[in-house]
Amino acid sequence: MPHAPVHQLVFTIKDRCRVCYTCVRECPVKAIKINNGQAEVINERCIGCGNCIKVCSQGAKVFLNSTGELIELLASHDKVAACIAPSFPAEFSEIEDYHIFIGMLKKLGFNFILETGFGADLVALEYKKILEDESSKPIISSDCPSIVFFIEQYHPELTTSLAKIVSPMVAMSRITKKKYGENCKVVFIGPCIAKKVESNEIDVVLTFKEIRRLFEQYNITPENTEPSDFDPPFAGKGSIFPVNHGLLQTIPLKDEIKENDIIIAEGHINFREAVLEFENGLLNSQHLELLCCDGCILGPGMTDQGKRYLKSKLVGNYVKNKLENLDEKQWEKDIDDFSEIDMTQEFEIKDRRIKLPSKEEIDKVLISIGKFEYADYLNCGACGYNTCEEHAIAIVQGFAENEMCLPYSIEKLHKSVKELNISNDKLASARQALKQSEKLASMGQLSAGIAHELNNPLGIISMYSNILKEESSPESQVYQDLELIAEQAERCKKIVGGLLNFARKNQVSVSNVNIEQFILLSIESIIVPENIRINIKAKLQNPIVQIDPDQMMQVLVNIEKNAIEAMPEGGDLLITLYEEKNDFVINLQDTGTGISEENMDKIFTPFFTTKPIGKGTGLGLPIIYGIIKMHKGRIDVKSNNNPEKGVTGTTFTITIPRTRPD
Ligand code: ADP
Ligand code: MG
Repeated sequence: MPHAPVHQLVFTIKDRCRVCYTCVRECPVKAIKINNGQAEVINERCIGCGNCIKVCSQGAKVFLNSTGELIELLASHDKVAACIAPSFPAEFSEIEDYHIFIGMLKKLGFNFILETGFGADLVALEYKKILEDESSKPIISSDCPSIVFFIEQYHPELTTSLAKIVSPMVAMSRITKKKYGENCKVVFIGPCIAKKVESNEIDVVLTFKEIRRLFEQYNITPENTEPSDFDPPFAGKGSIFPVNHGLLQTIPLKDEIKENDIIIAEGHINFREAVLEFENGLLNSQHLELLCCDGCILGPGMTDQGKRYLKSKLVGNYVKNKLENLDEKQWEKDIDDFSEIDMTQEFEIKDRRIKLPSKEEIDKVLISIGKFEYADYLNCGACGYNTCEEHAIAIVQGFAENEMCLPYSIEKLHKSVKELNISNDKLASARQALKQSEKLASMGQLSAGIAHELNNPLGIISMYSNILKEESSPESQVYQDLELIAEQAERCKKIVGGLLNFARKNQVSVSNVNIEQFILLSIESIIVPENIRINIKAKLQNPIVQIDPDQMMQVLVNIEKNAIEAMPEGGDLLITLYEEKNDFVINLQDTGTGISEENMDKIFTPFFTTKPIGKGTGLGLPIIYGIIKMHKGRIDVKSNNNPEKGVTGTTFTITIPRTRPD
């Protein structure tokens, strides 16, 4: 029997999905794909068991709604029969008299209401024939559509073992057509969603949940409804079918057959184990009676899940009552009349197994989720897969994502926090540098103003003291005093010039300079005491850079002099030259006294000096800072003045673009 075109059976309401992977865990065939953290059901892989709907605490999984289709059908001119699954007493327990329930369905517009239990009666007789025939091969029951899909899709070699008997629903459809005419439309109402795609012999399949919705929509209540009754043929023991072990309770089998020859497995874990053992030949000649749910009374189309024993009792009581009033003669006659209907069906192999990825592919993914060796395989199941390896396979197959691995995600989070801390620290030091440069900028403005104002009077002092000097005799005291005035005025002018430099009032005029030779030149222009060794290491591909030679000479000489002054007992100055992308870097490392932590903040401030009066002006580094800035470069300092922390000394690092952009 061909199956109906496959509809998407289960949908995800994305807003509700909270990514807990419970549906992945509970899906017996792993038909759920996680894509960008969202769970979606892959229809081709789904067997319609509805487990994902049952287990989703957020109600994010919903099944195909067929109410619109039913309303259309009822509005047509066709006669429409409703075949009611025998589990209905477990669903509509609030309606005390089932006749009212039948009345409500009639009110909705059905022409006939039939008991699917009668179909089960006939199907059970077909099973009895096989089970009591000692020569028959072991079979797997085929009354549960999810089981049939499971075998066809995931154990296709077992398809030939499926009992070639229709389900009670399809049996009932054939019975209905025989009794009420081929043109009569058939609607099945039950607890199952897989039935919606089981067979194209049924026009519409609705769940109890959907029927409730329609009752509400059309305001059909027990109070406003007249009682009615099922239309014939009436069911016998077949009505007990939906309760667990149903099929066996239906057929009057010999006890030893029940015990020895049939294995009953219900629920999504048990049925898979049974199929595996069956497939591996561990079960001898035993038949399998399989149900995907723990009895149809726990199907996903029931309004409430759980309360299995109450539900069994409700169905049991209903059947007991019915059987007490059953006209057995009529039942036997009906069975006889309809037993000539063909109750066979064929199955189709629909192999949905996916080739396993290679070991290399799996290992690669395992490493990407931090599983380097066997000890890392926690198999915690948080991802929804039983083992890390199963998860990795699903990742290769495109059904799962790395982030689903909880230990991996936690570790990644830790790493991010660490990285965040590092960039936080970087931000803090950048803020510090900004503060420093703001401070220097405002000092620069101030000094520029002062220097400008002082320049002219200093010039006048210098000029007039020189004129006066020339007019007096060189031997006189006045001459010597004037010489001192002129000398000191000259010194003041130098300081003022330095201030102007720091304030960036000067322009840079760059030219191509061989920086290696330039550094040698800077060393030649200072006096290096004997106890100090200077080493130069140059690692430049191309030593030509664009700088302002006069200003850069000032920079190098100032730093070199500072280094020498910091090493009164002698030491080493190592100058390293290297490239970094488009920059060149000069590193000047001395083994001097170092700079204390509290002074580190102050060394670029004008007039800050730790040297005695007359020796230091505190203008060297501020001027250097200004010049480097004008070259669009950077100057960094590292220093250690504590011998307990290792060799003392200071390193200045100057980074400047190799060429000027403008
Ligand atoms: P000055 O040399 O006139 O004191 P600078 O601006 O050149 O002024 O330097 C400011 C201060 O920075 C110095 O007084 C010294 O305390 C400190 N300093 C600079 N370079 C070094 C160095 N290589 N080692 C130790 N301290 C240094
Ligand atoms: Mg100095």
